[in-house]
Amino acid sequence: MDTTLKTKASHTEFDVESIRREFPILSVKVHGRPLIYFDNAASSQKPLAVIKAISTYYETVNSNVHRGVHHLSSLATDQFEAARKTIATHLNANVDEVIYTRGTTEAINLVAFSYGEAFVKEGDEIIISQMEHHSNIVPWQLLCERKKAVLKYISITESGELNMDEYKKLLSAKTKLVAVNHVSNSLGTINPVEEIISLAHAKNIPVLLDGAQAMPHMKVDVKKLDVDFYCFSGHKVYGPTGIGILYGKEKWLKQMPPYQGGGEMIKEVHLDKSTYQEPPLRFEAGTPNIEGSIVLATAIDYMNKLGFDAIAKQENKLLAYTTEKLSAIPGIKFVGQAKDKSAIVAFNIDGLHPYDIGVMLDQQGIAVRTGHHCTQPIMDLYCIPGTVRASFSFYNTIEEIDVFIIALKKAIEILKK
Ligand code: PMP
Repeated sequence: MDTTLKTKASHTEFDVESIRREFPILSVKVHGRPLIYFDNAASSQKPLAVIKAISTYYETVNSNVHRGVHHLSSLATDQFEAARKTIATHLNANVDEVIYTRGTTEAINLVAFSYGEAFVKEGDEIIISQMEHHSNIVPWQLLCERKKAVLKYISITESGELNMDEYKKLLSAKTKLVAVNHVSNSLGTINPVEEIISLAHAKNIPVLLDGAQAMPHMKVDVKKLDVDFYCFSGHKVYGPTGIGILYGKEKWLKQMPPYQGGGEMIKEVHLDKSTYQEPPLRFEAGTPNIEGSIVLATAIDYMNKLGFDAIAKQENKLLAYTTEKLSAIPGIKFVGQAKDKSAIVAFNIDGLHPYDIGVMLDQQGIAVRTGHHCTQPIMDLYCIPGTVRASFSFYNTIEEIDVFIIALKKAIEILKK
């Protein structure tokens, strides 16, 4: 059995066992068994570099940003803005195009509100898809209700891919924005985002990509993609919760009104009128998540040190191995079989409820997610209550998958009795 997986990246030695030692939580026991954590698409675990950076911030830096002239406030502001630079460099964005948010959900709500206020009027259309996370559906439904605009959905195929012919037909002079996920959290589909963007741009329509499930697995270059808005969450890229990023092209951000009002986002406030900062501060009302922002940069540095080639190689290996092993289980039905897939495997077993399988696996120390994964329209489409979803990180191993397959077979045997 391959317990000391060593994959050669371009210039990094990728040793899973030593990487696992950097994640203390991977050594905990669950119900007396070693934890097997296959719920990485929901939230990833944190390396020591990230855990330590959180305490270092509170031990040596903690203060409010952009306010005081005192030493700690300057230090916090410097680190907060340096982190923005690190994240901008990682995305190949200009630093003023990077906005701190609470996460992907807030980033999408920000665009739906502010871009919506500036550019969407009655009768206009927004295009999303049927495979979106609720976070990339509900903000657009709210916008369309508010503006009497129309929400259009790109349908998906049986294997879980976007129906691109239909997408081409949906694009029209009425379309004001296209918003789709880069990678689907419940199907694992990697969408053809370059094509989606170039088709929209041919008609001068901007595109937002929900990158929540792409950022942990691949290097994203917003300039190369030429994407208009891109967002992701810190907690899925080995960073803290409560922090996320919205990238927006300067030409759009400059035309968008504030999303929330408060301190930080203003130039001047008078009783009869207030004026606002330029982006990104215009969109960052109130005391931000200072520690989260600084530590998100630590998490991004950590991933870059591992190397995205090495990460992809390891995760693709896990995906292929799991798919092969699961295929041999009688009664299995995969949900999401796109040609281009991320390290997510979702399935059902004939005659069993995904929830029951999840509970049985948990009893054996294995964390998978069960349910609709905040993508109820997909479940409606396939007429299923939900799925069992195993989602992998570079720190998972072939050995863990073997334990998972044995535990799953045992669960099926018990539940079918
Ligand atoms: N979009 C996708 C594709 C996701 O997977 C998630 C998280 N499951 C979100 C949006 C929402 O992210 P958050 O809850 O961190 O805002």
